[in-house]
Amino acid sequence: MTDVALSSSTDEHSRTGLSADALRRAITDHLSYSIGRPATVLTPEHYYRALSLAVRDRMQQRWIASTQTFLDLSRKVTCYLSAEFLMGPQLGNNLLNLQIESAAREALAALGQDLDEVLTCEQEPGLGNGGLGRLAACYLDSLATLERPAIGYGIRYEFGIFDQEIRDGWQVEKTDNWLVNGNPWEIAKPDVNYRVNWGGHTEAYQDAAGVYRVRWVPQRTIKGISYDTPIQGYGVNTCNTLTLWSARAVESFALDAFNTGDYYRAVEDEVTSETVTKVLYPNDEPEAGKRLRLLQQYFFVSCSLQDILHILEDLACLPVTALSEQFALQLNDTHPSIGVAELMRLLIDERQLGWDEAWTITVAAFGYTNHTLLPEALETWPLALFAESLPRHLEIIYEINRRFLDEVRTAFPGDEDRARRMSLIGEEGGKTVRMAHLATVGSHAVNGVAALHSELLKSSVLKDFYELWPQRFSNKTNGVTPRRFVALSNPGLRGLLDETVGEGWLTDLNRLRDLEPFADDAVFRGRWRAVKRANKVRLAGFVRATTGVELDPDWMFDVQVKRIHEYKRQHLNVLHIIALYHRLKSDPGLTIPPRAFIFGGKAAPGYFMAKRIIKLINAVGETVNADPDVNRFLKVAFVPDFNVQNAEFIYPAADLSEQVSTAGKEASGTGNMKFMLNGALTIGTLDGANVEMRDEVGPENFFLFGLTESEVEAVKAGGYRPADYIATDAELSAVLDLISTGRFSRGDTEVFRPIVDTLRYTDPFLVLTDYASYMQCQQRVSDAWQDAESWTRMSILNTARSGKFSSDRAITEYCDDIWNVGPVNVQVD
Ligand SMILES: *Cc1c(COP(=O)(O)O)cnc(C)c1O
Repeated sequence: MTDVALSSSTDEHSRTGLSADALRRAITDHLSYSIGRPATVLTPEHYYRALSLAVRDRMQQRWIASTQTFLDLSRKVTCYLSAEFLMGPQLGNNLLNLQIESAAREALAALGQDLDEVLTCEQEPGLGNGGLGRLAACYLDSLATLERPAIGYGIRYEFGIFDQEIRDGWQVEKTDNWLVNGNPWEIAKPDVNYRVNWGGHTEAYQDAAGVYRVRWVPQRTIKGISYDTPIQGYGVNTCNTLTLWSARAVESFALDAFNTGDYYRAVEDEVTSETVTKVLYPNDEPEAGKRLRLLQQYFFVSCSLQDILHILEDLACLPVTALSEQFALQLNDTHPSIGVAELMRLLIDERQLGWDEAWTITVAAFGYTNHTLLPEALETWPLALFAESLPRHLEIIYEINRRFLDEVRTAFPGDEDRARRMSLIGEEGGKTVRMAHLATVGSHAVNGVAALHSELLKSSVLKDFYELWPQRFSNKTNGVTPRRFVALSNPGLRGLLDETVGEGWLTDLNRLRDLEPFADDAVFRGRWRAVKRANKVRLAGFVRATTGVELDPDWMFDVQVKRIHEYKRQHLNVLHIIALYHRLKSDPGLTIPPRAFIFGGKAAPGYFMAKRIIKLINAVGETVNADPDVNRFLKVAFVPDFNVQNAEFIYPAADLSEQVSTAGKEASGTGNMKFMLNGALTIGTLDGANVEMRDEVGPENFFLFGLTESEVEAVKAGGYRPADYIATDAELSAVLDLISTGRFSRGDTEVFRPIVDTLRYTDPFLVLTDYASYMQCQQRVSDAWQDAESWTRMSILNTARSGKFSSDRAITEYCDDIWNVGPVNVQVD
């Protein structure tokens, strides 16, 4: 690692200088003039804020230069619209991307502070649920690093994803108060604000030219103000923007017009307006009837589109017809898909464009990324809710639908069934607005997030659309940023990689291929193991501190961290643990290669089964960890509050990565990639990006088990009978009995009944179908683990062949194939 300016140079400006000396002066200045505390009361938290402000100053110079350059050159900008951005802690990443980590360490040391301690003071912004939000964050990192002009647009939730505590084995949700100590990374720009309407009705009128027009008479209006965070690229001057919208009351509205003299009513209005951006909704919960969620979506999309049109028309002074030449608007899942109707409204009602011209502009501007095939996760809104919330948008959607269905009927004459299936309005079980259909019809490009997922999109949920517009569909396999997920979180590996293949891998991950020959070098393998072991020691310390469970770093670390969901099948992993427990209890002479099973992940607060799976993991852990017959070979730990900060300890310490979802259910996964980059071997099904990971690394370096997606469909079509698997597998039968007779619940036979009954009778995720194959595969894993040299070889090859899974590759594909956004060199003087 090289810092661009290690030398101390007193003539460097304290706002911009990159030397340790300039940083030290900057920290001292901020302690006095931004934080305003005397030296005697300073804590590491104050140093965190002072250093963060000093780092932000340095980015600010690049930020202003980047914004000005994009405007001057009139270069095309990607606007990534996402209801979630799971950014993770910012300070460490910004130091890395500015290449001033050592300078910052030196500057703090000169002030008697330790950078590592200061870094732990940061409260991460938990503005996302899991993979989808983290993907948005990785993409912002790659866009800036690849010098592509980009703005991320989202919501500044006052309370992000809840903090998870574990009490008596159960998940307890705690409010995430991430803003209590302020957020040094954002800059509030209250002068950048837009009005957003809601409810009411529409009225038709004739304009001066006698043209039929519609005006929306809303029931209420709120205001969105922008908070901007700089997104610094690695080793470049490009510094992009993340704009998050926060809701406010429209001042003077309540007091003057409605509640004259009624001050408290006016305050109340302010309070209700601000609730719009109060809290992030958990996923995996039905959102039917969640009016506030629809309002959140509309709110942030309307603010973002108004902002984009303001930049286009008022700052770049270009006509609205130039929209798609200047901006590529990407919908991260259907959450922002109301944008299709909102852009039409802004063009037709507020700018008086004709329908056809407005529609051409809209479709050329939008692209849509689908993230799920799970029917319960495909967003639909009850028509009645939609009509009373967004009456004008519903009219526009009806008109889009009318014209669209004409096109369908022309292409497929007489096929009324197809027209019904494709309609933007669903008729089954009460009328609904189908947001995935709106996003697809309103976008010139539609993509899935892994090769398998994109194929399944074309053959299942969006099949009819694919048959109408095959050229719109493509695949963009997800990726993750090697800056955060290797360089920042695995400094040991970073050093070894720099020394072995040179530093270029950090921005060109395919260079890791140069590691391959070293897999056969015994000395190198020893160094590789030493790095992994140090990471395991670090994680063991963290696990001890958070759970009290002692893990031996010489054991295999078998890790499954991700949201808790039945389709992700944490319970399949638990069945394996219980089977090993059962074997050890039944045969006192048995020895097996020791393993530490490490879990982490949050369950949606209303997801009954997922919460019970957490309880089961903890219950099995309690029993196993306390039993001297088995705790010489097995340990189980559930790391509470899995978030980006904890993830940075966990991925680098894994030997084995569990990616065991039912084939066809995990669109891509990105956790799987983070493990692979860090040298874990994967046990997985042919699902999501696992398929491509196995192709890259070679089948001999990947532990594959389970049914394929088409086999899953065949089992379901034939009628899934879990009892058949139990009847023919005595060990499985015993494992289920151990749970249901209360072995892990002090005799309580009720607490896990919902899990066992689901597995025995109804389970839509076919856990028992894959059980035997999983057990055999785990045996192969254990056998392989016993040959440390061969395991290390496979570990090295996993990292060496992980280049495809960089978000730089993914973003390059989006820029080339969908956005047409090229690099722009930014100069800073
Ligand atoms: C990468 C990541 C995820 C996604 O993990 P999957 O295994 O792909 O589900 C979720 N949460 C956090 C904090 C992550 O870093």
